[in-house]
Order: sequence, then structure tokens, then C-alpha cells
Amino acid sequence: MKILVLKGDGIGPEIVAAAETVVKAANKRFNLGLELDTAEVGLESLKSQGTTFPDSTVARMKESDGIILGPLDTAIYPPPEQGGTNASGGTRKALDLFANIRPSRVRPGCPAHVKKMDVVIVRENTEGFYADRNMYMGRGEFMPTPDMAISMRKVTREGCMRIAKAACELAKTRSGKLTMVHKGNVMKMSDGLFAECVNAVASDYKLDVDEYFIDAMTALIVRKPDFFDVIVTTNMYGDILSDLAAELSGGLGLGPSVNAGANHCVAQAAHGSAPDIAGKNIANPTAMILSCAMLFDWLGNRHGRPELQEAAKRIDAVIEAQLADQDGRTPDLGGPLGTDAFGAAVAKKLAG
Ligand code: ATP
Repeated sequence: MKILVLKGDGIGPEIVAAAETVVKAANKRFNLGLELDTAEVGLESLKSQGTTFPDSTVARMKESDGIILGPLDTAIYPPPEQGGTNASGGTRKALDLFANIRPSRVRPGCPAHVKKMDVVIVRENTEGFYADRNMYMGRGEFMPTPDMAISMRKVTREGCMRIAKAACELAKTRSGKLTMVHKGNVMKMSDGLFAECVNAVASDYKLDVDEYFIDAMTALIVRKPDFFDVIVTTNMYGDILSDLAAELSGGLGLGPSVNAGANHCVAQAAHGSAPDIAGKNIANPTAMILSCAMLFDWLGNRHGRPELQEAAKRIDAVIEAQLADQDGRTPDLGGPLGTDAFGAAVAKKLAG
């Protein structure tokens, strides 16, 4: 099985290296037969190939069974005409990765802002408020005059139905509770369509379904963090809500995610490239490592390879044990370990 590794920008190279150490240990311990290869993306490929998202990298991604992608500092990319494509959005579009799955869980013994939380945010990933993902050709954001900017939001029945199905399938394997989040009181047509689709799909499942507006939800998830289980929502609401959930459950460095479609899956931490701490060996690689575990789980499920799912469970358990000990944590969680030492410690526990 081929796994393509892309380092990304900012803290990307550091946290991806730590995750790679863990992936290699798991590969050996569970005899997974994974072949790791690398390709360039982001500022690295902008320098060497004049683009942040080379066609050759996209072709390699399409040939791979799974992808590990570091965060990208898209805020400092030049305009697309000068090679600055958002490779994260581009990957989701190129591989049709419609489901962004972002779990947040309070880990025993690890500091968090709330006592109990175990939620998974299922975020639609290919349309919504992200204007760059909304067009076949051209850009969904434009300025008719210097004093007016217009941005398009697209919501389709197909996009809503497939994310609803992914969320229902997940809810079925957990507590059977599904919460949909939107702003249908204001966005009556677009969020109305989303709610209609989620209700239609959920009616085929035996689930306990409720629904909240995104503004109320940001307060509720702080007030009643242990009330929610699987949350399904549109693109930007999911992006914002998942950062909130990750922070509540301990910090942005703990929030993993995968971006999955019918045929491809990309492990990508929920947080960004954190340029403020890049190059200092202090970033927490937990989110990146757990994202790789989620990729293993997805691959195991898709290819009927239980050993991949076993490896995913074991990585999760080792991370939990590692985080329970203050001396085993990185500085964002009050610990002394560098990014590389954290990865090495997890790899060692995994191998033992
Ligand atoms: P981007 O523009 O790529 O989204 P950002 O810095 O605006 O980057 P994040 O990367 O999500 O957004 O980071 C927000 C804050 O959280 C930063 O202060 C950063 O230092 C911190 N942070 C994010 N990820 C980690 C991590 N893995 N370990 C430690 N701190 C992190």
C-alpha cells in the first residue's frame, strides 16, 4: 500500500516528521506493508517548481492509497497567477474529498477547558462559503468596484446528501445521536436545503436527531460539552466549530482530522501551519499522529485489512497514555518534550 507524505509549511515539516516516525513504527510492529514516499507541496514546491500545488504532486496523490499532508500557510501565498494555489482546498477538490471528519475528545489526565467531551464534527468539504471551491472555472469571489466585494456560497443537494450519509453512518457506530448545525433561520434556501437533506437521509436510520443554529451552537458546546456526539454541518461552520471543540478538549495541537472521499483519504491535522512557533521544535504533533491513525482506520475499513484498524486503535491508546503524563507532553500542554522527542516516545511505546 502506497502512502504519500507531503510536509507542508510552518510547523508542517516538524509534525509530519514526528508522525512519520510513528507510522514507520506501526508499519513494522503490525506488519502493515506500507511504502512511504514523498512529494513537494506548498512553499517548498513554490521555490523549486514555481507553484504551491504542482500537477506532478496531484498525479502522485491520485496514485496513492493514502496521503499524509502537513498544514499549509496559504495566508502568505502569492496570487494564483503567480503560483500560489491553496493546495489544501485544491487537494479536496482534485480528489473529491467531501467529508472532513474532526473528532475532539478530552483525554484522561490531560489538561482541558472542559471536563468531558467526545464529539466528532462531520464537515462538508467541497462547497459552502469557500469561494475557491465553488467554481468550475473562474473565481467565486470578485470585486465589481474597489468598494464592493462579492463572495459566492454554493450548497448542492448532492453535497448535502453525501455528507449527511457519512454522518449518519458514523452516528450509527457511536451513540446513535446526530446533531445538525446550520443557520437556516437566515440562510433559508441554502441552509434550508442542507437541513432538508440531512432530515431525508437520517429518516433511513434509527438515530436521535436534533438541530441547532450555528451561533447558539458555539455557546451550547461550551455550556454542555458532553451533550453532543456526532455533529454534521456545512464547510465553514464546521471549520470554526471544530477549532472551538479542539481548544475546549485540550488545545489545537490535539485535533486530528481526515479528509475523505469515495476513493481517497488524506490525514491532515485540523489546525493550521502555526508560523508563530515554526522551526522551534515545540509544536505538538498529536493531531498529526492521530490523523494518521484515522487514515489507517479508513484504509483498514476500505480494504478489509483489520490489522490497519488494530494499529489505529493502538496508536490512539499510546497517545492517551503519553498525554496522561505531564513529562510526556509538549510545551503547549505544560510538558518538556520537543516535537521530535514526543514522536520518538510514542514510536517507542508502540514498538514495545
Ligand atoms: P494558518 O494561517 O495556517 O491557519 P494560524 O497560526 O493562523 O495558521 P493555527 O495554526 O491553527 O492558525 O494556530 C493558531 C494558534 O494555535 C497559534 O498560536 C499556534 O501557535 C497554536 N497551535 C496550532 N497548532 C499547534 C500545535 N500543533 N502545537 C502547538 N500549538 C499549536
